[in-house]
Amino acid sequence: MNAETTMPVLKLKPKEERRLQFGHCWVFSNELSVVDTALKAGSLCKVIGHAAQPVGVGFFNPHSLISVRLLTRGAAELEPDFVSKRLKAAIDYRKSLGLGKFCRLCFSEADNLPGLIVDGYGDYLVVEFLSAGMDNLKAEVLSALDSLCKPKGILLKNDSEFRKLEGLACGQEIIGEVPDVIFAEEDGLKYTFPVKTGQKTGFYYDQRENRLFLAPFFKGRRVLDLYSYVGGFALRAAASGAEQVWGVESSKTAVEFAEKNAELNGFSGRIVFHKADAEETLNAFAKKELPETPDFVVLDPPNLVKNRKNLTNALKLYVRLNELALRGLPSGGFLATANCSHHVSREMFEGILARASSRAGRKTVLVEFRGQAKDHPVLVGMPETSYLQFALLRVL
Ligand code: SAH
Repeated sequence: MNAETTMPVLKLKPKEERRLQFGHCWVFSNELSVVDTALKAGSLCKVIGHAAQPVGVGFFNPHSLISVRLLTRGAAELEPDFVSKRLKAAIDYRKSLGLGKFCRLCFSEADNLPGLIVDGYGDYLVVEFLSAGMDNLKAEVLSALDSLCKPKGILLKNDSEFRKLEGLACGQEIIGEVPDVIFAEEDGLKYTFPVKTGQKTGFYYDQRENRLFLAPFFKGRRVLDLYSYVGGFALRAAASGAEQVWGVESSKTAVEFAEKNAELNGFSGRIVFHKADAEETLNAFAKKELPETPDFVVLDPPNLVKNRKNLTNALKLYVRLNELALRGLPSGGFLATANCSHHVSREMFEGILARASSRAGRKTVLVEFRGQAKDHPVLVGMPETSYLQFALLRVL
């Protein structure tokens, strides 16, 4: 007997299958005719439309607003060993991009494994299980990663807020051995960071291609890297011939690691990191009160949109930060600016930049609009997977 014939069946309300047919993977709780709370979180279920047409198979979670995360579409069957097959496909894709052991190896829905994040740091992997369905398949995931990547150690960094939304416990677990400090390698640069106590999965690989894209523009510039973390953009600027680089970051630990990383890569003389508040620095910059005179600003704040409710306030803050940067820059200067909230669409971000330019009284030219690096794929039909907007502006 086929496993799918024994699966519980969940029926959608009328017309709720349309978004799913156009590529989205999530069924929200208010889209189901009945949410069967007796079913175990993470169990596999079959979803059918209101007229009983097959919509797909997915993980069900009665505790989450996202009731189902689809793994298949229409009448397609869930392939046996789908975890290891899909992980292999995800890893092979990174290899085809020329990425080796230092990149995001699996990006959840966009790699057909909803709720699974895997980042590779040489001999070590950092893994997040963000859905109850994936969490149930932990043993299969770990065994597949072991045979595909042969890591020395895996850190399960299961401390994200998203787990709470799925009713999952938070905590860390180590399989094998993982040192406290590991490193990311990126196009010839080496960034160390504290993996167990640090941010997210450790390093922001999503900006890799944007850092490299900026390389020719950094030459001869005086660069202010705001929200610099362990030196992502700052080190790339120094490596690309920037005359002087200043990093500003509020986390003391991140600043210490950024300083170490500058030294490790041989840039100690040309980069200075400050533990400071970026907004205060921008206020001073806009009033020309900084001792430094940057002509290139990198603005890469954390996600300022915690949820849809604070979107309006967050948009105002994005406008203010960009406005201040543009006020401070000289003619011919550059602003490389990013937003990492999926609530802010490309159109909204372009609106933010237009408003910031106008309020600063500056004419700006869009040199290029970009997104996240290719190891963070975007699933067509699922805007939540396209979360990073990046723009380079030149001030006229
Ligand atoms: N640009 C970095 C990633 C930035 S992540 C890179 O390329 O790797 C955002 C960073 O902003 C985090 O390191 C966080 O500690 C820092 N941060 C958050 N609020 C801040 C503030 N008000 N001022 C300065 N830094 C801040």
